[in-house]
Amino acid sequence: MLTLDTPLAKVVGDRTAKAMAEDLHLHVVRDLVRHYPSRYARRGEMTALTDLQVGDRVTVLGQVRKVDTRPMRNRRGSITEVTVGDGAGSMRLVFFNHKHARMVVGAWGLFAGTVSSWHGQLQFNHPDCQLLDESTDAAEWASAMLPIYPASKNVSSWVLQKSLKLVFGSPETADQLLDADPVPGDVRRRHGLMPLARAIWLKHHPETPEDVEQADHRLKWDEALVLQVTLAARRRAAALEPGIARPRRAGGLADAVDRVLPFQLTDGQREVGEALAAEIAREQPMHRLLQGEVGSGKTVVALRAMAQVVDAGGQAALLAPTEVLAAQHARGIAGLLGPLGRAGELDGDPEGTRVTLLTGSLRAAARRAALAEVADGSAGIVVGTHALLSEGVAFADLGLVVVDEQHRFGVEQRDRLRAKGTRPPHVLVMTATPIPRTVAMTVYGDLETLTLRQLPAGRGGVSSSVVPVAEKPGWLSRAWERVREEVAQGRQAYVVCPRIGDDEPAAGDQPEDADGAPDGTDPAADPATDRRPPLAVLDVAEELRAGPLAGLRVEVLHGRLTPEEKEARMRAFAAREVDVLVATTVIEVGVDVPNATVMVVMDADRFGVSQLHQLRGRVARGKHPGLCLLVSEASTSSSTGVRLAQVAATTDGFELARLDLETRREGDVLGAAQSGRRSGVKLLSLLHDEELIAEARSEAAALLETDQGLAAHPELAAAVAALNAGDRADWLERA
Ligand code: ADP
Ligand code: MG
Repeated sequence: MLTLDTPLAKVVGDRTAKAMAEDLHLHVVRDLVRHYPSRYARRGEMTALTDLQVGDRVTVLGQVRKVDTRPMRNRRGSITEVTVGDGAGSMRLVFFNHKHARMVVGAWGLFAGTVSSWHGQLQFNHPDCQLLDESTDAAEWASAMLPIYPASKNVSSWVLQKSLKLVFGSPETADQLLDADPVPGDVRRRHGLMPLARAIWLKHHPETPEDVEQADHRLKWDEALVLQVTLAARRRAAALEPGIARPRRAGGLADAVDRVLPFQLTDGQREVGEALAAEIAREQPMHRLLQGEVGSGKTVVALRAMAQVVDAGGQAALLAPTEVLAAQHARGIAGLLGPLGRAGELDGDPEGTRVTLLTGSLRAAARRAALAEVADGSAGIVVGTHALLSEGVAFADLGLVVVDEQHRFGVEQRDRLRAKGTRPPHVLVMTATPIPRTVAMTVYGDLETLTLRQLPAGRGGVSSSVVPVAEKPGWLSRAWERVREEVAQGRQAYVVCPRIGDDEPAAGDQPEDADGAPDGTDPAADPATDRRPPLAVLDVAEELRAGPLAGLRVEVLHGRLTPEEKEARMRAFAAREVDVLVATTVIEVGVDVPNATVMVVMDADRFGVSQLHQLRGRVARGKHPGLCLLVSEASTSSSTGVRLAQVAATTDGFELARLDLETRREGDVLGAAQSGRRSGVKLLSLLHDEELIAEARSEAAALLETDQGLAAHPELAAAVAALNAGDRADWLERA
């Protein structure tokens, strides 16, 4: 008797079960039935053997004609050549060491691999194989959709299919699946969804593409509903825990900030500011996501909110993703506040507060002093990196947490900072990378969004061009000329490279730019093709100094420098003592030097879409027009080249966010805690299932309205509990 909880060892034997667990994370029958086919093969969609081209990665359907095994000549082991044909053409499959056990003459199978050629004959070297079940007759499989499962070296799609056959043969499992449906019956009826058992069966045994579509729709629903119920429950819990109202007070720091601002606020800044001020004045903790284009002036919006909290007797923390950015924020805020930011010092204004920088690299004495100011409350504004999250940091009365450039911060880190208040503080998360609605509803399910659409007047704007060096080699020298021209006009330039150089670990700029490594975001990157290593800061800087930019003041900046060195070099650049800064993505977020007008991004194809958008935001910050040159060896007609052209063609953050989502894997978007296995999100797509997610969100809210403990829906409650348990486990691992 098989049930959903039967260990797979009882179904497939110990060895295969072990491989299933290790390679595919499948442990019990429940996991196996949720291991969906990644695609379906149909005869009509197969490439005919006569149409094969060397280099194609294809699946062919053929019948085994000949199997010939012999020992290898120069090595131990054997080689097996299998000839398959499809009636029109034929090809050879080559296997080593009896990896072909089921190849018998007459069998039909699917073979997938990359076509190569040997002595004029087309062949696959050790292709993926799936022999068709001997019992299926030819006519049946000709029209059937053959499920192809995500497999591994030790667990073939074939084995998975056989195991599933056993499972589906068990009436107990089928019954259990009927009862295990997390989507309540009335929700199913309202949205015309088939029962879970039917959907799972169809997903594994579809006859038509419509079957797959319907099954997917149904299965996505339970993913979306479980996720949304989880998020809605968290929102409710957060709303029930009161924070502290920090109403605006006239004549305090907030008014003083408005007085000293060297510019007029934009209408957008004013409106968003009012919305924030009103929410901070309430007891219910604020949870806001502030989206605003690069350069839209989010910092000052945050500063005004922070000042309000200080006026109400609380402290505000500004969390930045890098030390460079934290230092810049602290410097900028302190500079703006002047004596108002130096309360307690000789020239300080007693009405003001203190702006304290707290980063991991502070020396012991400075750190102690900073910690003391944070703990006794004299630091009203605390700026820092993730060092703020560490154990030893205690706030006197944390009232507001501002997280800058949130895409570098996980939900967990945000929660950890939130826990530092005696009561939950207000939270403002800021990002320049617009977040598609679906992502806001899932990953940031607990954040309501505010948007700054307008840029301050008088911005030069930035224009971007691709420099396709493979096709237009001359354009690169033209790019360096442009840099020289800008420098001659008194402007400055950035040159960005994907790597530091000098045999660093391949991942790149690690220490504090944890996700700055520009890899994993490029779907065009084919690990099989040997691409040269990405260009490196140290090499490029040297070449520029010796050649195209000789005579200019060229400096480098990267994550391997000490924080003091980084800080010193940023300062020198800001003070115009450096003309050209050759850097890694350390400068990606928030660095603000309005005099910099050109950016040359080397190997631009190695960066993700939103990274490029962030990067070029560094040169659109002043009144002079900015120029961003995306240098790439990719051909303009390749998918990578097209993507770069799209980035160059638009500065609309929302369009770019969409493009970004298209080019990233969903898991990256969902983030570690909510991706893949743990969240059970396998089919749901943030890009394509917006409507479904929105519907699930409102069903989730309704469910919690009427049935708060989910008492009437034990299956749903169990699924939600499993998701939360996963999170908790994740949390423990990290702590
Ligand atoms: P971001 O939204 O990208 O974080 P910042 O807050 O760094 O942008 O602001 C970019 C630049 O614009 C800063 O130099 C800031 O002082 C300036 N700025 C902000 N608001 C205004 C405004 N209303 N008018 C003119 N300049 C502004
Ligand atoms: Mg910023």
